[in-house]
Amino acid sequence: MIRNAIAVMTSGGDSPGMNAAARAVVRTALYEGVKVYGIYNGYKGMLADDIQELNSRSVSDLIQRGGTFLGTARCKEFKTVEGRRKGLENLNKRGIEGLVIIGGDGSLTGGSMLSREGGIPIVGLPGTIDNDVWGTDYTIGCDTAANTAVDAINKLRDTASAHRRIMIVEVMGHTSGWLALVSGIASGAEYILVPEVKYNLDKMCDEISQSYKMGRRYTIIVVAEGACSGVGLKNVVQEKTGIDTRVSILGHIQRGGSPTVEDRMKASMLGERAALAILSGASDVVFGFDEGKVVSINLFDSVYNKKTLDPELIRLSTVLV
Ligand code: ADP
Repeated sequence: MIRNAIAVMTSGGDSPGMNAAARAVVRTALYEGVKVYGIYNGYKGMLADDIQELNSRSVSDLIQRGGTFLGTARCKEFKTVEGRRKGLENLNKRGIEGLVIIGGDGSLTGGSMLSREGGIPIVGLPGTIDNDVWGTDYTIGCDTAANTAVDAINKLRDTASAHRRIMIVEVMGHTSGWLALVSGIASGAEYILVPEVKYNLDKMCDEISQSYKMGRRYTIIVVAEGACSGVGLKNVVQEKTGIDTRVSILGHIQRGGSPTVEDRMKASMLGERAALAILSGASDVVFGFDEGKVVSINLFDSVYNKKTLDPELIRLSTVLV
């Protein structure tokens, strides 16, 4: 049981809904009568002692905001034993007895090392637009990012159709194709290229050429950044089809924006569960969702296993395109 204080931090790539999750952690801990510290700028701030006590008002006016009020950063020094020891000292001197980390794979890996080496209880929440954390269907921010991508693709289709162009849309996702697959299905893209599934460019280009001969006005190809570069693909497609082809790299716009209701709700539910778990003495768990319900996943399993793309979604995309 934790009686004195916990800390919360966001780390790695930001995602919409991190604020809602941190807010839920803070308010739940305060409700339970435990102090909460915010660690600013991820592990970098932990090492630099950029840590402040938070109150309920510290997290007012936040649930609707993208980004993270705690800031985030990448920190090479934390990858060393010495760096982690320094971070731990800054927690210990404030009497911080447990830590909730909201971040992606890398951040959770760092958390697992801190727990193993320092013995401090760690609870993780998956915060990334990539939805690539093992053991959970959902990561905080993935829904907002997919909505942002779909909104952009809708607009790109209008202009592609006006000019009878092929439009290649490169979406984020690191090595995962989840964001491309979901935004491609939801926007009715003609082709979706993801790293997890082999694709045949010659066949695709032949089909597109034929369809334009029959009168087609646009083709949307959604490509995950982990599958290939949008610019490289544009050159190949333009050359093979002879059709005017443009590329739009959605980039960091996918990281920002006011979180959707789904991200706000799920982030809030996960934040509450994380706070209650750490206060009750749990450690080395990540909370996520499985079939709509909050589930706990072993932290080490979560970071050492690689999530695969849902075969049902892959099947759906091949049926519908
Ligand atoms: P994300 O959490 O979004 O996957 P990163 O992979 O960049 O983002 O990780 C964020 C931070 O987590 C890194 O800058 C580093 O401080 C820490 N981290 C990542 N991987 C490790 C690791 N193997 N060991 C210790 N710390 C790590």
